[in-house]
Amino acid sequence: MIKVQNLTKKFGELRAVDNVSFAVEQGDILGFLGRNGAGKTTSMRMITGFISPTSGSVLIDGDNVFDAPQLVKRKIGYLPETPPLYLDMTTQVYLEHVAHLKGLRHRDIKREIERASDRCGLESVRGRLLKQLSKGFRQRVGLAQALLGNPKILVLDEPSSGLDPAQIREIRKLIKELAQEHTVILSTHILGEVQRICNRVIIIHNGQIVANNTIDKLSGNDEDSRHCRVSTVANEKAHKILKDQAGIEKISIVEPNEVFDLVLADGSADYRSALLQQLIEAGCPVTEFQNMAPTLEDIFLRTIRGDIELEDEDELEEEDELEEEDEDEESEEEDESDDQEDEDTKDDEDEESEKEDDKDDVTSEKASKESEEKKEEKEPEQASKADTSSQQQSNKKKKKRKKRKK
Ligand code: ATP
Repeated sequence: MIKVQNLTKKFGELRAVDNVSFAVEQGDILGFLGRNGAGKTTSMRMITGFISPTSGSVLIDGDNVFDAPQLVKRKIGYLPETPPLYLDMTTQVYLEHVAHLKGLRHRDIKREIERASDRCGLESVRGRLLKQLSKGFRQRVGLAQALLGNPKILVLDEPSSGLDPAQIREIRKLIKELAQEHTVILSTHILGEVQRICNRVIIIHNGQIVANNTIDKLSGNDEDSRHCRVSTVANEKAHKILKDQAGIEKISIVEPNEVFDLVLADGSADYRSALLQQLIEAGCPVTEFQNMAPTLEDIFLRTIRGDIELEDEDELEEEDELEEEDEDEESEEEDESDDQEDEDTKDDEDEESEKEDDKDDVTSEKASKESEEKKEEKEPEQASKADTSSQQQSNKKKKKRKKRKK
């Protein structure tokens, strides 16, 4: 139904979307998942024909969005991240306006507005000004405008963004209902949203697709999906029953006679229900059974982790290089200042010895006392010098970093 081929969008040097290809079948609810700036919105704007790609194509039922925009756009309802509302219009007037813009036939407009308003629960606010509506209702109006003309495809950019938990739940329920009649592509960075609503997921990272699969397969492909934990009422037989049970590859005892972690054998058969039945029949009632399959969040983070770690490492390396450069520069500066200090000390010593020669009447005891006192005075002085110099060094470092950042 939708075929995206080698789609690329460059903004200057930035490849916001980089050679992306995927297909969406009729009835799919595809979740576009990615961190901020991953390229979700840019992809959606190209799919809906709002911006043109640098290269690549988008085909809807075989028609290219950019060669036959009017024909294709009739098949797509688009809800951008910020719904395009004219806040001084009432809901009714706004929907009429959009219906005209979409080129709906005059005799269909009333029926279409009724249908879309009904679908999105807008009956009570049709006469109200959009600026007076809550964010949740504005989002519903945004969805209703996307539904006008009954397009086969709905493209929804972060449809639950900025809504409160109750509104999010309502919008999700609505999207699920709409998905029964429309093919839906929705973008989000809420992983739970994808897991609850979608059957397929594409993970996009730095403009590239890093995963594209059904949610079941994405979790099922992972070997961790065969892990489960079973807790029984304390019973010595439990371990033996599990050991004799077919289809268990590995058993680890978490609590003797009570809690066991299992790795089920690979293969199509699902041993879970047989296992539970076996335990119960043998008089080991199961108090808890937990699939340890990874969540979408685990999969998402694992998929993009390499890059996150690399980014962190790059930063650390850069930081280390800066430190080294700083140290080199500092040691050069220190050498210079050491030379200066040596000369100063030499001058001081010469002066001292001249004075000493003049003071013949000063006893050696007094002289040593004075020298002790001088030493005591000098130590805190040196310490404070050291503090000041380390403060200066850290200030210097900060300045250098600032300069480099600039
Ligand atoms: P978010 O979840 O934050 O909305 P996203 O995945 O939708 O992010 P995009 O909006 O597609 O990300 O942006 C992808 C990259 O392209 C970002 O680095 C963004 O700054 C850049 N970008 C998007 N639109 C433009 C533009 N018109 N001009 C320049 N750069 C842009």
